[in-house]
Amino acid sequence: MDSSRLETLCIHAGQVVDSATGAVTLPIHLSTTYQRAPDGSFPNGFIYTRDGNPTRHALETCLAAIEGGGAALAFASGSAATMSLFQALGPGGHVIAPHDAYYGTGALLRDIIGPWGLGSTFVRMTDLAEVERALQARKGASGRTLLWIETPSNPLVRVSDIGALVELAKAIGALVAVDNTWATPVATRPLELGADIVMHSTTKYLGGGSDLLGGALVLRDEDELFDRVRAVQKAGGAVPSPFDCWLLLRGIRSLVWRVRAHSANAMAVARAVATHPAIERVNYPGLASNAYHALATRQMAAEGTPLYGGMMSIEVRGGRAEALAVTGRVQLVTRATSLGGPESLIEHRASIEGAQTQSPESLLRISVGLEHADDIVADLMQALDGLHPR
Ligand SMILES: *Cc1c(COP(=O)(O)O)cnc(C)c1O
Repeated sequence: MDSSRLETLCIHAGQVVDSATGAVTLPIHLSTTYQRAPDGSFPNGFIYTRDGNPTRHALETCLAAIEGGGAALAFASGSAATMSLFQALGPGGHVIAPHDAYYGTGALLRDIIGPWGLGSTFVRMTDLAEVERALQARKGASGRTLLWIETPSNPLVRVSDIGALVELAKAIGALVAVDNTWATPVATRPLELGADIVMHSTTKYLGGGSDLLGGALVLRDEDELFDRVRAVQKAGGAVPSPFDCWLLLRGIRSLVWRVRAHSANAMAVARAVATHPAIERVNYPGLASNAYHALATRQMAAEGTPLYGGMMSIEVRGGRAEALAVTGRVQLVTRATSLGGPESLIEHRASIEGAQTQSPESLLRISVGLEHADDIVADLMQALDGLHPR
């Protein structure tokens, strides 16, 4: 029986009926410590919960399965997952990352791990020639080189060509990691496209409820890099709580269906708001007019049908004041950061990113939720009417 389809893996991978009780949903194992057998061994493999926990183990099995990887590690946040990978590269290593990476990733590279000895170069990841130059500059260098891809990007929703970037990276023996938080494994399959590592902020679509913080790294094999990241996880201890692991397993069960609905709603919202006279531009790769439409249609079609995701940004006519006026008028859509939950969220990115921001002042990022599409559209349209009546 073929039960390797994503819908089925999301529900069953890592989830086994509890042999002690018959419980169909996984118990939450809160115990921090595990009994030794009389001979001093640990018959079930668990010793101490930072090192390994049954609920986390089930989650890690599930995460590896849904990304098509050989092994996964769960962390306390997406940032902790990113940091652990950077630490595993070691001093003398080098990360080539996009200018418009998640701002926390850029801040880690510049302010935290840079002074520790991991170099970084920031590039326009959609410009293959520029990426190739940055990679070639590392040819023959000592220390590992990692190409860090984030697609679609935040907040301009630019799509990078994972397959083409992998080819450039492999030419100099660089590793490739993809932050797949926005696309999710439902739309994009980085490991199948040749990437070595997938990273997630599971806080977002995988959790799906805006009620847990988590991160993950999925690797192709339990290889030497895996062992290094595992050592950082174990010694550094940035692990998720058993309860957060359990919430995340529950969220993943409905992932496929939620991502389809987020994508359908986002398409409806993008098409509708694009017609409003207060709108300068809508950044959403599902729109035929978008510069990344053809690439996204190919790359974000893991199931055959393209799913452009639930994230978009809009640029209003004017600047900061006009953008903030729109956020001040929304009634259903919530003014808050983050993404991937059932409720639609809107945010002025330049305000939260501060001085280093690359985001236009006129830009608002929208996480399109699972409310009725007509209700989301009506709310955004009335908010935009305040700038420029239809
Ligand atoms: C939120 C986010 C992160 C950081 O994850 P946390 O769980 O908040 O630490 C990294 N990358 C992307 C694309 C994100 O959206």
